[in-house]
Amino acid sequence: MSERKVAIVTGASSGIGREMAIRFAESGYAVVVNYLNNKDQADEVVEACRSSGESLAIQADVSSFEASKALVDQTLDAFGRIDVLINNSGINRDALMLRMKEDDFDAVIDVNLKGTWNMSKHVTRTMFKQKSGRIINISSVVGQIGNPGQANYVASKAGIIGLTKSLAKEFGRKRITVNAIAPGFIETPMTDALEEDVKETYLAQIPIGRFGSPVDIASTALFLASDDAKYISGQVIGVNGGMI
Ligand code: NAP
Repeated sequence: MSERKVAIVTGASSGIGREMAIRFAESGYAVVVNYLNNKDQADEVVEACRSSGESLAIQADVSSFEASKALVDQTLDAFGRIDVLINNSGINRDALMLRMKEDDFDAVIDVNLKGTWNMSKHVTRTMFKQKSGRIINISSVVGQIGNPGQANYVASKAGIIGLTKSLAKEFGRKRITVNAIAPGFIETPMTDALEEDVKETYLAQIPIGRFGSPVDIASTALFLASDDAKYISGQVIGVNGGMI
């Protein structure tokens, strides 16, 4: 059993997940760095985490119920406990409704929403036994306000908010908190792919006048995982520069 608290960060090979993994390691957590395709990047994140403590890369497709179970089982084999689950893995397949394919809808719901459910399901027994735990789900500002061209992504992120609120009500008596973070526009590979004019349109909607950085999300996640946040559950914390 690890001496440290243990955090699983899904989709930690890139962007926001990478930053959260490194910040949690710096704060004393043993960190499981989940990834799908980018093993080299995941190994580099593990290397960075190990300079502060223990870390392990585990490949798993969170949209698969079985692969999610294997990710949780391997974490327990390695570290013996799970204190924090951060459901961060996410994809987008943007298209206006006329052009959106059924596969685009299914793929996004399967990774973002079903993946969050899969991972939460598989940590439930362990966290119930521990009578403690923190689940932090990464939603999005667009899950709160909608966005044209992202009906699939927005539905998945709004679904995550409903899942968060329901699990918070189920898990509270076991002293497990469940919260969502709804990031605004954060500079990562996901948003680098957008056209410049689209970025300008988003920037104009941000009162603080800049895009967010992965650190803005990581510091919020660290707070939600901390003892200071033990009475916060079922909430959606917007980290969006004042967008809404
Ligand atoms: P990113 O840089 O594209 O990283 C996505 C991560 O998800 C990667 O580590 C990727 O792994 C992993 N992943 C994708 N499919 C997966 C699957 N089936 N199973 C396991 N892991 C999978 O994205 P990001 O911008 O950091 O976004 C992180 C989260 O924040 C997402 O949920 C996103 O929707 C949310 N978010 C982002 C923004 C933003 O402005 N960036 C705003 C609001 C919400 P591999 O690379 O190894 O394949």
